[in-house]
Amino acid sequence: MSRPVRVRFAPSPTGPLHIGGVRTALYNYLFARRHGGKMILRIEDTDSQRFVEGAEQYIIESLRWCGIEIDEGVGYGGPHAPYRQSERREIYLKYAKQLVESGWAYYAFDTAAELEALRNEAEQRGETFAYNYQVREKLPTSLVLSPAEVEERIARGDVWVVRFRMPENEIVKMHDLIRGDVEVNTSTLDDKVLYKSVDALPTYHLANIVDDHLMEISHVIRGEEWLPSLPLHYLLYRAFGWEETQPEFAHLPLLLKPTGGGKLSKRDGDKMGFPVFPLFWQSPTGDTAHGYREDGYFAEAFINMLALLGWNPGTEQEIFSMDELIASFSLDRVSKSGARFQPDKARWFNAQYMHRMSAEELAPLYQPILREHGIEVSDEVAGRVAAIMKERATFIGDLWDLTSYFFIAPTQYDEKQMRKYWKGDNPRCLSELREVLASIDDFSLEHTEEVVHAWIESKGYGMGQIMNTLRLALVGAGKGPGMYDVTAFLGREECLRRIDALLANVKPVDAE
Ligand code: GLU
Repeated sequence: MSRPVRVRFAPSPTGPLHIGGVRTALYNYLFARRHGGKMILRIEDTDSQRFVEGAEQYIIESLRWCGIEIDEGVGYGGPHAPYRQSERREIYLKYAKQLVESGWAYYAFDTAAELEALRNEAEQRGETFAYNYQVREKLPTSLVLSPAEVEERIARGDVWVVRFRMPENEIVKMHDLIRGDVEVNTSTLDDKVLYKSVDALPTYHLANIVDDHLMEISHVIRGEEWLPSLPLHYLLYRAFGWEETQPEFAHLPLLLKPTGGGKLSKRDGDKMGFPVFPLFWQSPTGDTAHGYREDGYFAEAFINMLALLGWNPGTEQEIFSMDELIASFSLDRVSKSGARFQPDKARWFNAQYMHRMSAEELAPLYQPILREHGIEVSDEVAGRVAAIMKERATFIGDLWDLTSYFFIAPTQYDEKQMRKYWKGDNPRCLSELREVLASIDDFSLEHTEEVVHAWIESKGYGMGQIMNTLRLALVGAGKGPGMYDVTAFLGREECLRRIDALLANVKPVDAE
């Protein structure tokens, strides 16, 4: 790669960042890091109609949570500041005028009523209206008005826009790093608005090209929905005479619904119970939406899942740290077709990350939940318990149900387990076992297991009957890890207390 790699993530602050947008940011970031380049965050807020308060902060916080580091941009500064387009507004008019002067664009003064009339005419002919080479000269534009008239209209405050003068019947040949060569005939394209006098702001197309040029962007990696704009963008580079430094383009496949058909939407998430946003969101009007962070997903698992939605490493490997992703990522392994989102796979990734965590890593995550339940224990204890049960959990939040009996003695006993085990010889055997346990000094997992097993064998008791009865006493249910994990954690005195409680307080199911 001959020029320094500089990529940008350029979201519009129109609401919470969709996970498709996070994936775009991620691929840009991986590409930048892979090639020792820079990652830029530009906020494209020139559409004041769609601006949503709080969205920009949400975007910045989301990227931070995901571990997507920004080198230059809004909130970070840099040599091309400002990076918020609304703060760059003076820049764009000059470029719009430059295109008018060179004949690549024109002023248009048409009113809504004039456009409506042409639209109706087209409909009557059974055609769809397009603002293009066929109509531009039927409207009051600088292509038909005299220069003096144009000046006068502007001076008296008429509303105007600058439109791109799309050439007629020309084949634009383009290259996309994911899709290969693409061609479009310009007669199929319309004359897009580049600048609006109403708010003295450029539209997306103009601002995007000017800024990519000024910010020396080498690669534009963005969603597939921008592919139809690519011919216009190519022509804008040509019109400005910036073809030499025009960035390369890569359009990423859509994230599809779990069922396959169509783009993944918030409604799919609501219906099927998974978030489509990285963080919890509350709109200025009070609407809320779930986020991966608040729903208990680890940022690393979320990123790992997203990375594989549309890119494949070419191996069987599924678990990737950010550094591993950076080392393996390449655009030629990004697929052309849409990637179907799978909620189960998101949960699977989270579970995988959970299972790989050490007791030390789990402790600080589990402590807040324990405290919520009034349990005050050391990090060592919190971590140990979490580590014992992590294999059965998908989220940290699952741990309480899986481990509460470590901290709280049962007061109620599972009915089904009672019917199965709290009868016959079992209560008597449990009192015998109580004495065996009471006599053990070294209550370590291994030693307790050895002594209890030897005793069961010498008595000829059924292993399952004894262990399940003990589980009923200590856990109150049929769930939990290996029994000796529980005895070792509780210690001798607590085990005896729990056994005594069952013996004293609960009548066997077959008692008179
Ligand atoms: N502002 C555009 C968006 O919201 C950016 C598209 C691009 O990257 O060129 O997606």
